[in-house]
Amino acid sequence: MLHITGSSESGPLRDDACAYAVAFEEWLATRPAALEAAAHPIASYEQRVAATSALMRVLYDEGWARYGWPEQLGGLGGDIVHRAVMWEALARHGLLSMAVYEHLEVLAPTLAALGNPALMARLLPRFLSGTETWSQGFSEPDAGSDLASARTRAVARDGGWAITGRKIWTSWSRYATWCLVLARTGTTESRHRGLTAFVVDLRHPGVEVRPIVQANGTDELAEVTFDEVPVDAERLVGEIGGGWRVAMHILAHERGTYGWFRHNFLQREVLDNLSLGAPEGDTLLGNALLDLAAIRSSSFAGVRAHAADSVLGPRAAFVKLMLAASEQAVNDWVLASDPDLAVGVQDDHVAVNRQEYLFSRIVTVYGGSQQMQLDTIAKQILRLP
Ligand SMILES: Cc1cc2nc3c(=O)[nH]c(=O)nc-3n(C[C@H](O)[C@H](O)[C@H](O)COP(=O)(O)OP(=O)(O)OC[C@H]3O[C@@H](n4cnc5c(N)ncnc54)[C@H](O)[C@@H]3O)c2cc1C
Repeated sequence: MLHITGSSESGPLRDDACAYAVAFEEWLATRPAALEAAAHPIASYEQRVAATSALMRVLYDEGWARYGWPEQLGGLGGDIVHRAVMWEALARHGLLSMAVYEHLEVLAPTLAALGNPALMARLLPRFLSGTETWSQGFSEPDAGSDLASARTRAVARDGGWAITGRKIWTSWSRYATWCLVLARTGTTESRHRGLTAFVVDLRHPGVEVRPIVQANGTDELAEVTFDEVPVDAERLVGEIGGGWRVAMHILAHERGTYGWFRHNFLQREVLDNLSLGAPEGDTLLGNALLDLAAIRSSSFAGVRAHAADSVLGPRAAFVKLMLAASEQAVNDWVLASDPDLAVGVQDDHVAVNRQEYLFSRIVTVYGGSQQMQLDTIAKQILRLP
């Protein structure tokens, strides 16, 4: 299996990240109990979240999960490359997914960059230590691809705001304490210019979280309604009317750098299923490995760009398309290799394979659909009319 340290495709790591990688590898080789408990197939999503949260606690206490985050927010300095090293190593040592902690690489970089510093100094350590998690409330029943038509409304009240509306497909809300909500503070006609981002406490009266069970049996998604939910002024992220900028900052991670984090677990899935005896020279496996190589190098370019304070911009659409292609290619191969997948055998390994296969059918939708990514490439990169 490829790994970052010293691999020619990614180029050498900086000395600080290299030292971190070597020390983390030594620690992982001691097989800490929390890693042992999380690094195997766990069919129950609830138990998977609990095991991953317990691992996050240990990674935080030992300092590993604090690297890559600013010291003023409870981190130990460094940047996204440290996080890239950490999650790659965890996957290599058997962890099968980030579970709800995917938002550490989707939402948290934006919260750290644009959130209220005092609030984030309180909340980010709780996220990093597995104590509290987050969800992302953008999509609405009539506002998915056309996010600028979002209708959830925030009205100024008592020095803060009151939020009323309905969000849907908000991943991991059932497990989350906080939701980053995009709400309308301007007129409907103001479209993207009239949106503002808020940190909303999902435990507050007036919030209702209704989990949605997916075809794969997990309750990862949810519908969330807000009825006059009060939000303090310090819970604003970015400027009033600056919600679009916040959303684009997040989507740049969700479509770009996130590909690095996710692809490590697809590689893990391949390794864990090689024993199923896929025939030598299997074309599906070959396709999956080629797709993984493509996403690996393109997403690490995004990680490096981010570390250098640059952004992929519209090029992140390529990474999102490649990630979806590799997720489907890996799971096409697993389905072809595992005869138990379709017939209902219930051990945890088969159950997780089945969940992953079914999930891979919808990965062309989250973070902006495949058509929207193609639209971005056509208009913003190829400059087509
Ligand atoms: C697994 C998963 C997790 C998700 N997690 C979250 C989350 O945590 N938070 C959140 O806010 N949302 C989340 N979503 C929602 C996701 O962002 C939306 O589903 C997505 O943006 C598409 O919106 P829609 O479902 O309303 O479909 P629509 O926008 O109604 O699109 C329907 C179809 O029409 C196509 N289409 C629409 N407009 C155009 C156009 N202009 N040109 C060409 N084709 C077009 C689309 O590509 C799609 O095929 C998640 C979705 C999934 C599947």
